[in-house]
Amino acid sequence: MKFSWRVLVLWTLPALVIGFFFWQGAFSGTPDMSKNTATTRMTYGRFLEYLDADRVSNVDLYEGGRTAIVEAVDPELENRVQRVRVDLPSSSPELISKLKEKGVSFDAHPMRNDGAIWGLLGNLIFPILLITGLFFLFRRSSNMPGGPGQAMNFGKSKARFQMEAKTGVKFDDVAGIEEAKEELQEVVTFLKLPEKFTAVGARIPKGVLLVGPPGTGKTLLAKAIAGEAGVPFFSISGSEFVEMFVGVGASRVRDLFKKAKDNAPCIIFIDEIDAVGRQRGAGIGGGNDEREQTLNQLLTEMDGFEGNTGIIIIAATNRPDVLDAALLRPGRFDRQVTVDAPDVKGRLEVLKVHARNKKLDSGVSLEVIARRTPGFTGADLANLLNEAAILTARRRKEAITNLEIDNAVDRVVAGMEGTPLVDSKSKRLIAYHEIGHAIAGTLLKDHDPVQKVTLIPRGQAQGLTWFTPNEEQGLITRGQLKARITGALGGRAAEDVIFGSAEVTTGAGGDLQQVSGMARQMVTRFGMSDLGPISLESQQGEVFLGRDWMTRSEYSEAIASRVDAQVRVIVEECYQTARRFILENRIVMDRLVDLLIEKETIDGEEFRQIVAEYTSVPEKPQYMPSI
Ligand code: ADP
Ligand code: ZN
Repeated sequence: MKFSWRVLVLWTLPALVIGFFFWQGAFSGTPDMSKNTATTRMTYGRFLEYLDADRVSNVDLYEGGRTAIVEAVDPELENRVQRVRVDLPSSSPELISKLKEKGVSFDAHPMRNDGAIWGLLGNLIFPILLITGLFFLFRRSSNMPGGPGQAMNFGKSKARFQMEAKTGVKFDDVAGIEEAKEELQEVVTFLKLPEKFTAVGARIPKGVLLVGPPGTGKTLLAKAIAGEAGVPFFSISGSEFVEMFVGVGASRVRDLFKKAKDNAPCIIFIDEIDAVGRQRGAGIGGGNDEREQTLNQLLTEMDGFEGNTGIIIIAATNRPDVLDAALLRPGRFDRQVTVDAPDVKGRLEVLKVHARNKKLDSGVSLEVIARRTPGFTGADLANLLNEAAILTARRRKEAITNLEIDNAVDRVVAGMEGTPLVDSKSKRLIAYHEIGHAIAGTLLKDHDPVQKVTLIPRGQAQGLTWFTPNEEQGLITRGQLKARITGALGGRAAEDVIFGSAEVTTGAGGDLQQVSGMARQMVTRFGMSDLGPISLESQQGEVFLGRDWMTRSEYSEAIASRVDAQVRVIVEECYQTARRFILENRIVMDRLVDLLIEKETIDGEEFRQIVAEYTSVPEKPQYMPSI
């Protein structure tokens, strides 16, 4: 198997193609941007931690520095190299200097290539490269643990799309997104029994657009359709169409459709279609020719085959709003299916799917985990159980217990654990800060209950107060928002009251950012201020450069300054409430701080009991058992 692949790779491809890709592989170490090699995503914060811990060996920047493929080693897994994908903030000049400082090798890959020069270079050094390439191929395939797999990736580069004859994924493997599943069940019938539809003159749709945030299972769903219908699965990521030489994207589209036609009925899956399908003519400085050519080719191909040839194209995106209208026209991606992060019931289903092959202690309740993880996507939950399993193995236990799950949740949410500070003034300050959050959170009736307070650092945070969300975060009342703002200000209020205004620290920076964000939204989006029930902002998230530049903000300067004033009123009121909690509960705070410094962690139940000895604690709807 190993050998035949190599032969196939080496001798059946046109020489130039080989040379070109080896050139990439050997010199720039270009990882394949396909989901194949970097399905796992890492948050930017986590990436920085890895960087600090010298666990990053190589970084490749894409899309003008907005995405990176990072190679990190995991000492816990015998230094296995892992390739993960990181979305970077739009500008991070410090990152480059940090990479330099850490001595990490990095490289940037242009979005639009200066084709001619690179092409020429590629041709000139081709002979040397071929040899180096061969060398690398053999070396890699014999040394790497996953040898043949690595070598095969070069081969696959030829087409840059993957074909799986049998995905082996079934609808049973996809959980928690029932509506989407139901919608797509029909697609399986289109593929299996097209006659049923064509007989009555129905046109079988060609394209389905899956809309939803990363990690919610869009790829999995597309694979499940192929798996259920027993048809081959072709996949490519939109970003792979556009990062190459001019003209290559379009020819890739042609190749892909040709291959698909030969293998019909089949599924074509295009991930991140927004990378290629953005509105044409938008963007500063005109469009991107390469991308537009590719998009045009895609449209042409979609129009070129009859609806009943048995090819169904499934595309995924998180930004349907930036897509070119032509893509959404009837006969193209005219069906849209939303795939959202699962609710508590959905999370339980996802956990059940991923717990199938894991050994869980009888004390572990998946339901409790589901409740503790609002906002987690399917991928997060899968990751969570996997982290717990790794921890279990490391601790040489027989089965995953609540402790490992608990640690894994903390780790997935807040990053890796650090070493606690030694007792010092700053440790006391952090303790007061955290207890400040927890006291405010406990005494506010509308605030989620405290789950635990800890001084064990995680990620960027030196201490953390965890709250247990009581119910699904559906509708949030004004009272709850104000409670959250007050709770978030509790940390700074404690620093201020106890240490004096000259001693307050930068540690509250993150809290304050959240506070401003929440207060501003109360005014401009939810009509919860004296300005009255008006909405001043469209719900647009990220700026789509070029288009949004042309739309001015929707309100006048005069309104803007009233907004600012209202934001200040809300924040000020909440801050005074938080200060009052601290002033009135100084004695119990001192006791809690001593306890926290001694024990590092206080759990919510104990915290409430101690507070209740001094003052009355409001009853909150049903506390979650802490796990
Ligand atoms: P997306 O394509 O939406 O970014 P993926 O389909 O690639 O997400 O999900 C990544 C992994 O997360 C999947 O391989 C699967 O293990 C897990 N996962 C995500 N969503 C679900 C789900 N709804 N049910 C089961 N597993 C899921
Ligand atoms: Zn804080």
